[in-house]
Amino acid sequence: MSREQLAIVGNGMAAGRLVDDLLRRDALKRYAVSVFGEEPHGCYNRILLNRVLLGGAVDDITLKTAGWYADRGIALHAGTPVVRVSPAAHRLWTADGREFYFDKLVFATGSEPRVPRVDGLRKSDGTFKDGVAVYRTAADVGRMRAVARPDRPAVVVGGGLLGLEAAKGLADLGMHVTLLHLFDTLMNRQVDRTGGAMLRRAIEALGISVRTSATTKAVLGKTRAEGVALGGGDVLPADLVVFASGVRPRTELAKDADVPTNAGIQVNDRLETLVHGLFAVGECVEHDGRTYGTVQPVYEQCGVLADVLCDPATPSRYRGSKVHTRLKVAGVEVASLGDIDPRQADDEVIQVIEERRGVYRKLVIRDGRLAGAVLVGDASAAPGLIQRYDRGDPLPANRLDLFASVDRGSDLADGMVCHCHQVNEQQLAAAVRGGCRTLQDIAATTGAGTGCGSCRGKLASLLLKAAPSPVAAM
Ligand SMILES: Cc1cc2nc3c(=O)[nH]c(=O)nc-3n(C[C@H](O)[C@H](O)[C@H](O)COP(=O)(O)OP(=O)(O)OC[C@H]3O[C@@H](n4cnc5c(N)ncnc54)[C@H](O)[C@@H]3O)c2cc1C
Repeated sequence: MSREQLAIVGNGMAAGRLVDDLLRRDALKRYAVSVFGEEPHGCYNRILLNRVLLGGAVDDITLKTAGWYADRGIALHAGTPVVRVSPAAHRLWTADGREFYFDKLVFATGSEPRVPRVDGLRKSDGTFKDGVAVYRTAADVGRMRAVARPDRPAVVVGGGLLGLEAAKGLADLGMHVTLLHLFDTLMNRQVDRTGGAMLRRAIEALGISVRTSATTKAVLGKTRAEGVALGGGDVLPADLVVFASGVRPRTELAKDADVPTNAGIQVNDRLETLVHGLFAVGECVEHDGRTYGTVQPVYEQCGVLADVLCDPATPSRYRGSKVHTRLKVAGVEVASLGDIDPRQADDEVIQVIEERRGVYRKLVIRDGRLAGAVLVGDASAAPGLIQRYDRGDPLPANRLDLFASVDRGSDLADGMVCHCHQVNEQQLAAAVRGGCRTLQDIAATTGAGTGCGSCRGKLASLLLKAAPSPVAAM
């Protein structure tokens, strides 16, 4: 029986994970898979882009090389943007003028940076002035590196995760960095005011100057950035101005194909768009009125979509994701989940502030269950809190017990190590018994360590305990 043609448009973290999930389900028996990626690389770990900013190669963060696809019989078209899709003709067209047939198609086009309306961003040909950059791709990082010089001034616009990461990277390169944030609290989506103040102190201790409640009016300089004019009239010198002020789902290709879009490409619980045979996954997706900006929901969607593609009768459904964030941002551990402030009159709030250690921990409790938490400076209690939050487990009478890093939630046997790829200690032990000796082996076998990367220290220590030979770095 001839195989159906499955086209995946986009080759970012969603596409990479979807391909893995399809392979796990033996999908190549049913589908001839083609992946079309605008970027000229195999799929890489976007979360680790800061390593490239600091001088690493894209290869260092690549999850799947061109050879990887070839070895598995998957057709990779890298550096090949798809410019048009016709659902009626079952065809797509690439920027180099080629035409491809598909039976089913998955949009995995991700997000693009949202650049605020600011005067003086562009040259007369519409491209960014030299020294103006966004922070999404390896190419963006290349543009930042081309301008970054020690002891020269840089401005980063945006005090969320990406802005803090960019600011830290540029400060590590020796630049004098000013971080501008429109709101009064850094990472205001993930942390409350007290947590934001704690974070600010930690960021300032790195030599980064922070200005909150700051509006950016204009980028100064004729053909290249020379400074930034602020709303209040101040002018900051800047050779490099990086905009890291949010993202928006890339919906244009789907929209042009008459696939319904709103904030994102609209999908049902099967990750199918309103056009039969066309699916979407990742940050480009809007499900139940929500879009997502971190990998955990993206990976959850990939699992369901792989089920749906491999077995149309599957009961597997995507019901939305409970989002939790655990990051090391600019060297500071931050974790956040659920409501970061009380929402109901009888919500219980526990806050512990350790000024000296720069540690802040907060719980929001509703009806005896965890409704939200914020951890800044020490996120070791996060795994237990995430588990209790996800499961809605009852909480101990002494709420402070929840802050102990040994609290692993109600099911100690779970032992989750890699939350991105849902790999627990038992699975890792099985991988080691199966011959895995290095972090690369573990990554190739289980996927652990290839998401946000925050579990790699734990993986290395588990390997050291289990394996006699030295552990190679990933
Ligand atoms: C610097 C940085 C740090 C981050 N840190 C974290 C973190 O710590 N934790 C976390 O959970 N998340 C983090 N994220 C977010 C995470 O990277 C995203 O959630 C994830 O990459 C989303 O995957 P995606 O495949 O949907 O989108 P993307 O990874 O953006 O991939 C989409 C791909 O589709 C391609 N594409 C788009 N249109 C077309 C077309 N027409 N034809 C062909 N190709 C096309 C794009 O070029 C891109 O390569 C970070 C993001 C950045 C940029």
